[in-house]
Amino acid sequence: MSQEKISKIKKIQSTGHLRKIMADYFYELDRAAKEGSPKVAWCSSVGPAELLLSLGFVVHYPENHGAVLGSSRKANDYIPVANAIGYSPDICSYLTSDVGSFIKKETPLSRAYEGIEGVAKPDVLVYNTNQCRDVQDWFNWYSRELGVPAIGIHTYRNIGEIKDEYLHSIVKQTENLIPTLEKISGNKFDVDKFREVLSLSRECTLMWKKVLEANAAIPAPISFFDATIHMGPAVVLRGSPQAVEYYKVLLEELNEKIKNKDGAVENEKFRLYWEGMPIWGKLRDLAEFFIDLRTAVVASTYCNSWIFDSFDPKDPFLSMARAYTEIFIVRDENFKENYIENMVNKYKLDGILFHDAKTCPNNSNNRYGMPERLAKKLKIPSITINGDLNDLRCYSEEQAKTNIEAFIEQLESR
Ligand code: SF4
Repeated sequence: MSQEKISKIKKIQSTGHLRKIMADYFYELDRAAKEGSPKVAWCSSVGPAELLLSLGFVVHYPENHGAVLGSSRKANDYIPVANAIGYSPDICSYLTSDVGSFIKKETPLSRAYEGIEGVAKPDVLVYNTNQCRDVQDWFNWYSRELGVPAIGIHTYRNIGEIKDEYLHSIVKQTENLIPTLEKISGNKFDVDKFREVLSLSRECTLMWKKVLEANAAIPAPISFFDATIHMGPAVVLRGSPQAVEYYKVLLEELNEKIKNKDGAVENEKFRLYWEGMPIWGKLRDLAEFFIDLRTAVVASTYCNSWIFDSFDPKDPFLSMARAYTEIFIVRDENFKENYIENMVNKYKLDGILFHDAKTCPNNSNNRYGMPERLAKKLKIPSITINGDLNDLRCYSEEQAKTNIEAFIEQLESR
């Protein structure tokens, strides 16, 4: 008999297709960096990627590389390297693990993709501070190290109503990036090309949204832990036909699962919301743990953060400014609470799990009384677990699991 541990996680057939398009993406980046053409831009995950693509850049997303470092459990080899040059263990562990891996000249991409020796070097670094200041500091480190320009957009944060003055400022800042980007790419900005890319990004967004909404079904066909992997194309391939095509294939598979009542968790009993970052190095372990508890983690802020419904090719600059400003992380507590309330109702949830990620206060929404306010308002319990996106020293597995088990017992007794 095989000694291999049999996973309890159900297979998603589309994963083969996903691997293929992700491999093509990384090889394209690698080729561009080696040949010097097209030019390579690094972009923060909710930065103006569509503008960069329209100017002919191939785009690398350092946060995606951070997630690869986390999920391959290599992050803790590299975080101390960045700490040693003065980047605190308390700041973003995507930043510290990525910078550490650069200094050590190692990347898990080399093991995954034969022939790729390192992350594709940038010709320009472009950020948007909509999510946090860390991206700016992160890109500025590379700018100093590699001698390439870091340019960006500074967004209003912690906002309720999105005012015109915010958007006009962001539009202006976006337009101001163009002359530098034209010079580096060697291409002239073409508004029709920009509209075309934005239109593909919009299609990708709408398909990704449908994928996530498939989980309104009971039982839910895909877990949060799987969705964090399948969101790859929405992060790094938005603006391409491949991403749109991929989500069509995945959605078809999920609809089939819904038809057959084939849930990601066998005999699903409870349904939870995951608020906060994934714990990348523990995805599989947590997925199996929740399967044993007959609990489906069906919806999350994280996976929904790559839905940009407002993209409108008819008004590309303004609609992109809006889409990248109205995301959850940019908003105030009232907006966030209403958002989570809608999610709880839409996905018929029994409870909310808050992940307090030590190195990302921006995505940890448990720190100013939100769990308590929501529990009172929604009359469903919540739990907070302490951990981190990449730094597994901040995650006590035993404590987290004991607390989650106690939480599920609490749901049982309701
Ligand atoms: S939002 Fe959090 S995880 Fe993302 S780059 Fe900023 S600090 Fe890092």
